[in-house]
Amino acid sequence: MLLLGTVTSAELIAPDLTPDRLLLRLFHEEGVRVFTPLELSFACRCSRTRVETMLRRFPPEDFEDMKQADGGLVVTCEFCNERYGFNDAELAQLQPRLRH
Ligand SMILES: [Zn+2]
Repeated sequence: MLLLGTVTSAELIAPDLTPDRLLLRLFHEEGVRVFTPLELSFACRCSRTRVETMLRRFPPEDFEDMKQADGGLVVTCEFCNERYGFNDAELAQLQPRLRH
């Protein structure tokens, strides 16, 4: 971190000083290894099947608080905001002991 503190603003924005060269300039004595950059992309592993598996694990009594006025329920993935809706009949298949 001490070495990193010696970098000037001019060096950070110098067009001819690539990040790799800056790293080598600062840390050549430590040994620098730069990995191939990976492109990042957002992806969520949620699926309707996963949500169904999760809903099957709930005790039937817990559904009373989760169900909406029409008897269905909506599960929203907190990672990607995808919404999975289940109507009364679909819930009955997932939870045969559920009261209707
Ligand atoms: Zn998701």
